[in-house]
Amino acid sequence: MKLAIPKEIRRGEQRVALVPAELARISGAEIHVEHGAGELALFPDSEYEAAGASIAGDAAALYKQAELVVKVNPPSLEEADLLPEGATLLSFLAPGSNLDVVRRLAERKITAFSFELVPRISRAQVMDALSSQATIAGYKAVLVAANRLSKLFPLFMTAAGTVPPARLLVMGAGVAGLQAIATARRLGAVVSAYDVRTAAREEVKSLGATFLELSLEAQEGSGGYASAQSEDFVARQQDLIGTHVAGSDVVVTTAAVPGRRAPVLITGAMVAAMRPGSVIVDLAAGSGGNCELTKDGEEVVFNGVHIIAAAELAATVPTHASSLYSRNVSSFAKLLVKDGQLAPDYSDEILDKSAVLIDGTVHYEPARLALEESAK
Ligand code: NAD
Repeated sequence: MKLAIPKEIRRGEQRVALVPAELARISGAEIHVEHGAGELALFPDSEYEAAGASIAGDAAALYKQAELVVKVNPPSLEEADLLPEGATLLSFLAPGSNLDVVRRLAERKITAFSFELVPRISRAQVMDALSSQATIAGYKAVLVAANRLSKLFPLFMTAAGTVPPARLLVMGAGVAGLQAIATARRLGAVVSAYDVRTAAREEVKSLGATFLELSLEAQEGSGGYASAQSEDFVARQQDLIGTHVAGSDVVVTTAAVPGRRAPVLITGAMVAAMRPGSVIVDLAAGSGGNCELTKDGEEVVFNGVHIIAAAELAATVPTHASSLYSRNVSSFAKLLVKDGQLAPDYSDEILDKSAVLIDGTVHYEPARLALEESAK
C-alpha cells in the first residue's frame, strides 16, 4: 500500500499529517513524502528518509501513485484533482461546509474519511484529532491574549507596588476551554468559565476556576457535544453574561455546536462595555465566531478592545501539533489497512461514521442531502 504525505498548502499552515517517528506504526506501507512537507514543523526530509520514506519532488509526483493520502487540511479543488481515481483520503474535511470539494472527490471515485466525524467512543479517543488540536489551541489562545494584554497576568507584590491579577473568562469549557483555563491559572490569572453542558461545571472547578452559575436551562446535547440553544436562551445568556464580560481583562471563547454556526455569545454592546485594552480571543472564528465583531482571519480593535480571530492556533505550534495529529492519523490508518492492503471494514462504527465518501458515493448523509439540494 502506497501512503502519501503531501506538503500542506493552506496559508499559515505549518503542520504535517505524519511525523517521521510515527511512520513505523503503519506497518507494511510504502511511504512517500513530498519534499519539504515537514520542514515548517521542523521535520526535515532527511528524517523521513531515515525512517524509510521516499521523497517526491513535488505534489504531482507524490500524488501520482498514492493509494492512501493523509493530510491535515481539507484538499483544495486542485489537490482533489491530483488524487488518483479510487484513492483513499484521511484528513480534516469539514464535510458540511466543503460541498464543492466533496462533489469533486465524488467525481474522482475517492473514499474519504473525515476527522470531524470520528465518533466520541473510548476506542476512538486515540484518533480524536479535534481534541488533540483543540488542546493546543486552548493553550495558545491564552498565550496570544497574554502577549496582547497591556497588563500582567499574575498578582505581583513588589516594593514598587502591588499589581492585581488579570481576570479571564472562558466561554465554552470543552477541550480547548479547559486547556485555556489550566494555562491561564498557571500564569496566575483569576479565571471564571461558563458552558451549557452541566458536566463542565465540575471540570472547571477542578482546575481552580469559578463556574458561572447563570439561571438558565440549557438544552443538553449528545455524544459529549452541546446542542444548539433557542434564540430566547441566547438572548438571556447574553444578558446574564454581560457584567462578567465587562469585568474581564481577557475573554477566550470556544463555544461550538457541531455542524452549525457558532452561537453569538458576545454582542457589540457587550464589547463596548469592556475596558479599553481588554482582549477577546475567539477560537470559534472559523465557524462564524462567538463575538459579533469577530472578523475571520483578522484582529479587530473596537473601542480599544482587541478582538482576535483565532481559528487555527494549533498550526502555530506545528511541532507538537503535528506529533499529536500523527498519532491520530496512524491509529486511524491501522483500522484501514489489513495485511499491507487497504481493506476498510465498514461494520466498524468508527469507519462507518467517519466516512464521507466510499468509492465516490457520498456516505455522509448531511453532505449527500446538501448536494442533492444544490443540484435542484
Ligand atoms: P466543541 O468544540 O464542540 O465546543 C466547545 C464547548 O462549547 C463545548 O464544551 C460546548 O458545550 C460549549 N458550548 C456550545 N454552545 C455554548 C453556549 N451557547 N454557551 C456556552 N458554551 C457553549 O466541544 P469539544 O471541546 O470538542 O468537546 C466537548 C466535550 O466532549 C469535552 O469537554 C469532553 O468532555 C467531551 N469529549 C469526549 C470525548 C470522548 O469521549 N471520546 C472526546 C472528546 C471530547
